[in-house]
Amino acid sequence: MIINDYSSWCINSVVVKVVAHCNLRCDYCYRNINSDEHRPNIMPLEMFEKIISDYIESTDNPQKPLVVVWHGGEPLIAGVDYFQNVLEMQRRLGKNRKFINVVQTNATLVNKVWAKFIKENNIVVGVSIDGPKKFNDIHRKNRVGNSTFEMSERGLENLKEAGNSFSVICVVSNENYDKAKLFLDFFASIGVLTVSFIPCFDYNLKHTLDNKKYEIFMKTAFDYWMSKYKGSIKIRFLEDIMRKIVCLAKNQKCYTGCELSDMCGRNIAVLDNGDIYACACLTPVKHMKLGNVKTLSLKEIPKTTSFKKMVEQYNDINKKCLTCDVKSICSTGCLNRRLSCYSSEKIDYFCEARRKIINHVKNSLPKYFPIKEPVNKV
Ligand code: SF4
Ligand code: SF4
Ligand code: SF4
Repeated sequence: MIINDYSSWCINSVVVKVVAHCNLRCDYCYRNINSDEHRPNIMPLEMFEKIISDYIESTDNPQKPLVVVWHGGEPLIAGVDYFQNVLEMQRRLGKNRKFINVVQTNATLVNKVWAKFIKENNIVVGVSIDGPKKFNDIHRKNRVGNSTFEMSERGLENLKEAGNSFSVICVVSNENYDKAKLFLDFFASIGVLTVSFIPCFDYNLKHTLDNKKYEIFMKTAFDYWMSKYKGSIKIRFLEDIMRKIVCLAKNQKCYTGCELSDMCGRNIAVLDNGDIYACACLTPVKHMKLGNVKTLSLKEIPKTTSFKKMVEQYNDINKKCLTCDVKSICSTGCLNRRLSCYSSEKIDYFCEARRKIINHVKNSLPKYFPIKEPVNKV
């Protein structure tokens, strides 16, 4: 069965993995897979320029903003001057096109100069931090195995002092799964706008989160969020589930993060050496490489055999999904987590938890948001 034929594919964002290096050594990091510590690892500016120019050329709608994510490793290693050049080339090549620049950082290198630069240039900031010190430092250590919390905390203070707001990515692990309330209180107390709780998915499966623990974390987070923080801090995945339930009930088009979006591969990732992948999460899986920016223009991606193979894999789902009671919301989950290298059943590794989390949100919604549409029909 074809879930999506990709006839309406377009690029939502380009994730530029500017630097392959990172100053931290988080033990669950996918960067460690196939990493080569001896590579110089900073993308040449000429290559970044080619990406921007290809991205502009790939979009027909001049009104649509171009979203460029500065990613790594740790992108700030490239330095302020590097990104000054990136902004200048966007102005030069984009003419009147609007760019939204996002930086995903561990914040350890955010000093006052960086914080000011980020503010002055309206850069959207996402910070990776796993809650308070005691929990952050379980997996997020530096090269010699020491704490990184204070360094990230100082970076956050610099960001705030310069007037920046920020969102957070927090990894849910087997060691913190029962701390959902504590984490929400912590993130609310430091002024986080949106938190993305990501289930730990270690490519060697060593640190991968247990399904039951993921379920417990997210259900607790949802209930606590609704009772204490409704209308303030946002929890991305849970908010997306709610949005999708309401849109489906109203028969409206819905925009959510990729995991619930019915289509993988719109947030194109480019490595420091120019290799192109359909998503940053797929970059450690060498056979998912789509091409290289030196020889492949972004608008040509759908014509490549590698992309067609990815679409085949996307549509090759477990029959269980077809009859699943939450399929219209779950959308079969994340392609990366159902690749044959991790799952022999071609099903999202977190299927079991997703089903329960979605049903929990669905069943609890009428209590928090009484609406006329019968959500149980979704
Ligand atoms: S900060 Fe991010 S890129 Fe660096 S080691 Fe940790 S998870 Fe990997
Ligand atoms: S919850 Fe599981 S079975 Fe249902 S659609 Fe999602 S991945 Fe498929
Ligand atoms: S593979 Fe997973 S993370 Fe990547 S675009 Fe698809 S759903 Fe998103």
